[in-house]
Amino acid sequence: MSFRAMLLTRNDDKSINADITELSQDDLMDGDVLVRVDYSSLNYKDGLAVTSKGKVIRSFPMIPGIDFVGTIEESKSDDYAPGDQVILTGWGVGEKHHGGYAQYARVKSKWLVPLPEKLSPQHAMAIGTAGLTAMLAVRAQEVHGLKPEHGDILVTGASGGTGSMAIAILGGWDYNVVASTGREEQADYLKSLGANEVIGRLDAPGRPLESGRWGAVVDGVGGETLASALAATKYGGCVAAYGLAGGSELNTTVLPFILRGVKLHGIDSVMAPFEKRKDAWMRLALDVPAEKLDMMMQVVPLSKIRPYCDDILDGKVRGRIVVDVNA
Ligand code: NDP
Repeated sequence: MSFRAMLLTRNDDKSINADITELSQDDLMDGDVLVRVDYSSLNYKDGLAVTSKGKVIRSFPMIPGIDFVGTIEESKSDDYAPGDQVILTGWGVGEKHHGGYAQYARVKSKWLVPLPEKLSPQHAMAIGTAGLTAMLAVRAQEVHGLKPEHGDILVTGASGGTGSMAIAILGGWDYNVVASTGREEQADYLKSLGANEVIGRLDAPGRPLESGRWGAVVDGVGGETLASALAATKYGGCVAAYGLAGGSELNTTVLPFILRGVKLHGIDSVMAPFEKRKDAWMRLALDVPAEKLDMMMQVVPLSKIRPYCDDILDGKVRGRIVVDVNA
């Protein structure tokens, strides 16, 4: 049986083609479950992969798409049976193992989590890798004992996918949430998701320690933004860092760590173990209202996704793009 997929191939001159093509199940890679995919999503990493602006793809040809939701069609696993609805994020899928920009995916069952009962498949991909990462970053703050009385919690890259998700999660809690964005025109959107205040992007810090403003920080931007956030985090605060949308370098000093006991907590969602992912998805299903997911998502057919891959790298995508692989 043939199915439709986006396939990335490399030419002799190393340029990359991203074509929608017909494949057969024999073209898929090894795995103990075959999943009929409903939706994937567009993440920053997918943008890098499809445009070939980043070295995300480890071998060609490759089906991109680092996450998906779908229904088990065939299973050799004791954990899943045909008909079970599942979510996949991470594990190198869409990078070194064929990914979610296809109507079928064959993967390892240990990479999956069950779709929580309260979530529709479309909303699961509105959350996607971005939402899982945002939840892990917010939970890191809980691990470090953050309480609303510690002060403002800053979310950087606020209008993007992970930023929007972090605000939607935190907006339901008792924190004063400050959204940092380069897009002033998104202020109403960010407030409707749950931000109490909207500020511009952070400049590089003028001094190694600025006056303490942030009780906690959730950062997907990196670079000068992360350096600035560290310099202005209050005594004992925690900065959860997961992204590099603004740069991968980090020019800082040890002063925030040794004089204020600031904690820098790195977040990786790709290899997050099963129990942590399952728990985070349960929390996401409970904590993020469906209306907020509707507000932040747009659904784009796989056949029309290419220009959005440039847009996400240029910081022009608001919220989350759900990819309909069957359209
Ligand atoms: P998006 O592109 O959706 O959001 C990134 C946002 O960052 C943009 O919308 C923009 O927000 C802001 N931004 C972009 N460029 C700059 C810049 N030069 N300077 C300052 N701000 C900028 O991406 P995602 O939310 O999907 O991902 C964000 C980052 O997190 C990426 O680097 C991604 O690779 C990483 N990531 C890491 C994961 C992990 O497991 N560690 C998992 C998922 C993502 P605004 O316009 O509001 O300022």
